[in-house]
Amino acid sequence: MVSNAQDACQKVKTLSISGEIKHDGKGLWVEVVADKNANTLTIRDNGIGMTQEEVEKYINQIAFSGAEEFVEKYKDAQIIGHFGLGFYSAFMVSKQVEIQTLSQREGATPVHWSCDGSPNFTMEPGNRTTPGTEIILHLADDSIEFAEESRIQGILDKYCKFMPNEIQFGEKSDWVQGEEVDESGEKKEVEVKVPNIINNTEPLWLKKPADLQDEDYKKFYRELYPMTFDEPLFHIHVNVDYPFNLTGILFFPKMKNNFEVQKNKVQLYSNQVFITDEVKNILPDFLTLLHGIVDSPDIPLNVSRSYLQEDANVKKISSHISKKVADKLQSMFNNDREDFERKWDDIGTFIQYGMLTDEKFYEKAEKFSLLRTAEDKFLNMSELKEKIQDTQKDKKGDVVVLYANNKEEQHAQIDAAKERGYQVIILDGPLAPHFISQAEQKNSGLRFKRVDADVMDKLIEKTDEMPSTLSEDQQNNLKTALENFVDKKKFQVEFASLSPTEAPFVVTQNEFMRRMKEQSMMGGGGFYGTLPDSYNLVANANHPMFSNSITDAEGKTVLNEEKVKQAIDLALLAKGLLKGEDLTKFVKANLEKLAH
Ligand code: ADP
Repeated sequence: MVSNAQDACQKVKTLSISGEIKHDGKGLWVEVVADKNANTLTIRDNGIGMTQEEVEKYINQIAFSGAEEFVEKYKDAQIIGHFGLGFYSAFMVSKQVEIQTLSQREGATPVHWSCDGSPNFTMEPGNRTTPGTEIILHLADDSIEFAEESRIQGILDKYCKFMPNEIQFGEKSDWVQGEEVDESGEKKEVEVKVPNIINNTEPLWLKKPADLQDEDYKKFYRELYPMTFDEPLFHIHVNVDYPFNLTGILFFPKMKNNFEVQKNKVQLYSNQVFITDEVKNILPDFLTLLHGIVDSPDIPLNVSRSYLQEDANVKKISSHISKKVADKLQSMFNNDREDFERKWDDIGTFIQYGMLTDEKFYEKAEKFSLLRTAEDKFLNMSELKEKIQDTQKDKKGDVVVLYANNKEEQHAQIDAAKERGYQVIILDGPLAPHFISQAEQKNSGLRFKRVDADVMDKLIEKTDEMPSTLSEDQQNNLKTALENFVDKKKFQVEFASLSPTEAPFVVTQNEFMRRMKEQSMMGGGGFYGTLPDSYNLVANANHPMFSNSITDAEGKTVLNEEKVKQAIDLALLAKGLLKGEDLTKFVKANLEKLAH
């Protein structure tokens, strides 16, 4: 009903320009009145009104749209309706509907139409003296909630907040000083009540970006999301009129890793009329993380969501927005890389998410998607490749990207990698595993390994392993002996031939197994998800602890139990795996040693 009233006002503007009616095209308004005593809801406007013929044609005949005819004739008119069905929805909540209308056209007479929802209606001369239309809904007994002010205020706020002509709904309760001009033309001070105008008729997205300041956008953001305290990071003002019409402002919220919470804050509008804020499946998934408004007359109204998804215009709009977003990020990256890097914490998740879910976006974002190094510097993928292609190439010719997901926990390994002149990057957050598989897929010859996936020597295998001082038999013997020190279900004992000065034990976690487990956990289980965490306890075959071990009469290896235990505990400790009772025992044992 309010949309129809808005259309009626818009028609006055169009026809006053073409000279078909005498009107300056100004001072047009809509008013909504909820009357709880009378159980009525009234929508009035001072728009175009209807002649008797028009009421007969557009109101009496179902599915005949005056809006559609109008748009066919006046191509640029910004009209909302076009199905010719909206008006009938009035009967869903009313037992009787009345129309009082007077057309702006010369010589028109007022019309009063009334109908109780049955095929019968009455039409007689009306009581209006000024042009416009008033529609009175006599609410049905089960719909009296629509005479409730708060109910209507909520509906108006949601759907009509940015409609093009002022909508008055009741009054702001307080009296204020105002002026009145009396008949003699003299001004006098009076107390007036301020009308409650529920809409902003000139929303920011319709203005020229060149005329706006940063502060205007921030203010608008607060208007849109009064409950959000964070300021947006930056915005994109979209303004296209070819090949389709699209305006809007998109805001980048601060995201961090809690991006799920913030979804669905983009609102779709068609000619300033709210359509939906459930944009999932309408916009590409990653764009639903943005906030703001997208307004296009090409977005169809009054259609089901599944229809919206399939609509060709909606698809075009989506890919256009996606391109705009990529372009904006690219220009920020080019113009002020330092500033871009400072914002990375907040926009990184969004960009990674976009790259994972939108192929076209990936292609563009590859250049400005950044990787944080362990030294808190930033590199994009091609810079990283450039930097490590010689130093981190293994004997097979693969370039190995070393990463850590926790700078604290993997401090020892990061440190060891740095000592070898390797570059470690930090990949954390829920998207990291996906990001890694995508990066490996897209960059052939590139492999990602977490710094704790293997002993340093084997992480990037450059040459063949140095010869071991232990024979295969000795190793098997030792392996059996060592297995008694750990939980066999969790730890797989193996040997590596490292330098004698390296630690006797290192705990590693196989890259492949860990990733499979992480992935099936994300997918909600699966075979790998059911497996317990598994680790490798890698013993350094060349460490004196083993090379000097003695074999007893039966050929079994005799180990210094206390030393082995301590060395394993140290390896577990370095990996953050020594916990609970084991940790307490370890601390106690060492304290005792101090006392001696
Ligand atoms: P639609 O708006 O989609 O065309 P409706 O059934 O809501 O369909 O309205 C049918 C027609 O009735 C409109 O196209 C318009 O010509 C006319 N109409 C409805 N409300 C008004 C109004 N407030 N002022 C003038 N004409 C109106």
